[in-house]
Amino acid sequence: MTPKRKIFLPYALPSIDEAEEQAVLEVLRSGWLTTGPKVRQFEQEFAAYTGAPYAVAVNSCTAAMHLVLAAWGIGPGDEVITTPLTFCATIEAIEYVGATPVLVDIDPATANIDPNRVVDAITPRTRVLLPVHYGGLPCEMDTLMEIAHRHDLLVLEDAAHAVGAEYKGRKIGAIAHATAFSFYATKNLTTGEGGMITTHDPAFADRCRILSLHGISRDAWKRYMATGTWYYEVQTLGYKYNMADLQAALGLCQLRKLDALNARRQQIAEQYHRAFAEMDFLIPFPLTLPPDRTHVWHLYTILLNLDALRINRAQFLEELKARNIGTSVHFIPIHYHPHYARYGWRQGDFPNAEYYYERTLSLPLYPAMSDQDVADVIEAVYDVGARFRR
Ligand SMILES: *Cc1c(COP(=O)(O)O)cnc(C)c1O
Repeated sequence: MTPKRKIFLPYALPSIDEAEEQAVLEVLRSGWLTTGPKVRQFEQEFAAYTGAPYAVAVNSCTAAMHLVLAAWGIGPGDEVITTPLTFCATIEAIEYVGATPVLVDIDPATANIDPNRVVDAITPRTRVLLPVHYGGLPCEMDTLMEIAHRHDLLVLEDAAHAVGAEYKGRKIGAIAHATAFSFYATKNLTTGEGGMITTHDPAFADRCRILSLHGISRDAWKRYMATGTWYYEVQTLGYKYNMADLQAALGLCQLRKLDALNARRQQIAEQYHRAFAEMDFLIPFPLTLPPDRTHVWHLYTILLNLDALRINRAQFLEELKARNIGTSVHFIPIHYHPHYARYGWRQGDFPNAEYYYERTLSLPLYPAMSDQDVADVIEAVYDVGARFRR
């Protein structure tokens, strides 16, 4: 088969232009590469954007989640409730502090954690709820916050997919006790690698900041500046999780265009939704878009109707690749990974996540795609479906 599309369409590409190039060049020429004025500015502008009063920049979302749990004093014997349909980073953050991850199955309509099942998983050891806004669609936050309040739990959101998303008129980042964002290369806002913690609690923000740089006193990053001092104290066991000015310069540029980037994602998602609604061998996802929240379309996923096809999901991906379309799968359920055998989870424990995993694939969706790219994806999906229909 000769692919219709001549050049491979990557699954993801960042939206970087002259603004980012210039900003990084300025930092390089300033002589101050690591944590400094750009990081402080990025934190302030990010906090203002989300509506959370405090933001602490770090070098990844994984680090952000680890720091939040460490700053809350979560540790051995404590349980943290999260979803099986996430990246391993969510679970690793829980393991870093010695706590125990507890998985709760997803709602099949949204692929987000099912709040009704969360209640059943709460034990006297539960300390934290860690919902993941799958694909960029916010979880049922009112219900989760209400459960947390009733059971005296803290809520940390994994908002790696959800920068800019809103729930009942509030931005993700301003709702829970703490929120962790990712600025990894494929995410809606990127600094190459990077992350952010937002919170309402100033003392907690301070503690995260101290933990992010070796546990040394508050303005340690200033010690090589004219206004700094050589003296510092290590106050606690900290980590090397600080963000560099080079990354923050990228983040400031990206933040200024974030709404436009997310609007273009929305436009592409609508084109996909319209086209895929006509195809009987797949179901566009999510099954429902609750009107009280906005989706920022970090992922665009479809569910294959395996009864209508002669091929499985893996073969469908191969066929798209042969047509020069890059794809991905989000996510291999946590309990399928060998490392997690230690928790005793079995196949069959989380049937909704498993059903989803067997059928899902993620299509390219990013602002740098042209209308022709979008049309090529739609045509390739249609072509594979038409060819392998049962
Ligand atoms: C990307 C991702 C992370 C990890 O983000 P990093 O910044 O790479 O640490 C965590 N959770 C989810 C759901 C992700 O997709």
